[in-house]
Amino acid sequence: MTERIIPVADLRYLQAVPHIPQPLIPATGLLSDQRGRPLRDLRISVTDRCNFRCVYCMPKEIFDKDYQFLPHGLLLSFEEITRVAKIFIAHGVEKIRLTGGEPLLRKNIEKLIEMLAGLTTLDGKPLDLTMTTNGSLLAKKAQSLKDAGLKRVTVSLDSLDDATFKRMNDVDFPVSDVLHGIEVAHQVGLGPIKVNMVVKGGVNDQEIVPMARHFKGTPVILRFIEYMDVGASNGWKMDEVVPSAEVVRRISEQMPLEETEPNYTGETAGRWRYLDGGGEIGVISSVTQAFCSDCNRARLSTEGKLFTCLFATGGHDLRALLRGGHSDEEIIAAIAHLWSQRDDRYSELRTINTEGLTRPVRKVEMSYIGG
Ligand code: SAM
Ligand code: SF4
Ligand code: SF4
Repeated sequence: MTERIIPVADLRYLQAVPHIPQPLIPATGLLSDQRGRPLRDLRISVTDRCNFRCVYCMPKEIFDKDYQFLPHGLLLSFEEITRVAKIFIAHGVEKIRLTGGEPLLRKNIEKLIEMLAGLTTLDGKPLDLTMTTNGSLLAKKAQSLKDAGLKRVTVSLDSLDDATFKRMNDVDFPVSDVLHGIEVAHQVGLGPIKVNMVVKGGVNDQEIVPMARHFKGTPVILRFIEYMDVGASNGWKMDEVVPSAEVVRRISEQMPLEETEPNYTGETAGRWRYLDGGGEIGVISSVTQAFCSDCNRARLSTEGKLFTCLFATGGHDLRALLRGGHSDEEIIAAIAHLWSQRDDRYSELRTINTEGLTRPVRKVEMSYIGG
C-alpha cells in the first residue's frame, strides 16, 4: 500500500489574518506583484462539497462519510462574497469564476449570481462572470443560471466512455447526463461553452482522440488539462501526466492541427486550430509548460481565505477582516499589501526541477480552494 500524508483539515483551519498597512493603500486598479503581474481574475469557491469523487481531486478513501466538510456558519455569505468581489474589482479584477467543490450544490446559487452580475469592471464593462461545473445538475439549472446573469459555463468531462467516466467520477455518474447538461446550457445561451478534460495517463488517455472527434465542428471548445499535483490526497505521480505536446500529436495525427495566437495575455490554454476549419482545441500545460509568468489569478476559498497560488500551503483570512468590523478601505489596503508581496510561481519551479523539487507536502485541496 502506498503511504500518504493527508493533512487537509489542519490546513483549512490555519489562521493568517492579513496585515492592514498604515497609511492605507488605496485601490488604483494597477496592482502589481513582485513579478510585475496584475490582479485580473478571481476564482471563488462557493462550496467544498461535491457529488462526485473524481480520483484526481476528491478520492473516495479520503473524502468518505467521515470527512468533515466546513460547517455552514464558516462559509462566506452571499453578501460577504459580493463585498469581497467589489473590493477585488476595485483592484482591477475583470473576470470572476464560481467554482468549488461543485458550485451547483450551493443552495440558491442563482441569488449570488444575480448579485455578482450587477457589478461592473473599473471601466464600466460587464464582469466576465462564469462557472466551472461537473455538469451533473446543469440540465436542471441552466435556464435559471442564465436568467440570473451567468454569462457562460465550463463543464468538466473526462471521457465519453461510460465505464471510464464512471471509474473517474467514482460515483457511477453516466456520460449522457453531462452531455445533456451541455446541450441545454448551449440552448439557453450559456456559451461559448468550454469542456475541460483532465488527462490521466493509463486511465483516460485513450479518450483523447474520441473526445476531440466528438466536439470537433461543434460550438464547444474542448480543453485538455494536464493532471496536476494539487492537494496532498490524490497520490500524484509525474509518470501519470500526459504532456500537452503528446495530446496535440495524437489528435493531429488524425485531424491535423496548427497552433494559433492566445486570445489575451494570461490565457492559460494554448490554442490549436483544425486545418480543415473544424474549430479549435485548447491545452492547459500546467505541468510541462508553466504559465506562472502571466498568472493574474487569486482564489477565494469557501470560508473566505485568499490564496495567491493554486499550490499555496496557506491562505489569508479575509473573513476575519470582513467579520471584524473593518472598512472596505482597510480590506482594500490589506489585499494591496498581500498582492504586492506575491512571489508565487510553483509550477515554474516544478518545471525547472521536476525530479528534485522539494514539494511542500501540506498543500490545500483543489475541491476546497477551487479550480
Ligand atoms: N466541480 C467542478 C468541476 O469539476 O468542474 C468545479 C471544481 S473542480 C476542482 C475544477 C476543475 O479542476 C475541474 O475541471 C477539474 O477537472 C480540475 N481538477 C481537479 N483536480 C485536478 C488535478 N489534480 N489536475 C488537473 N485538474 C484538476
Ligand atoms: Fe468534484 Fe470537480 Fe473535484 Fe470532480 S473535479 S471531485 S466534480 S470538485
Ligand atoms: Fe499561478 Fe501558482 Fe499556477 Fe503558477 S503555480 S500559474 S503562480 S496558480
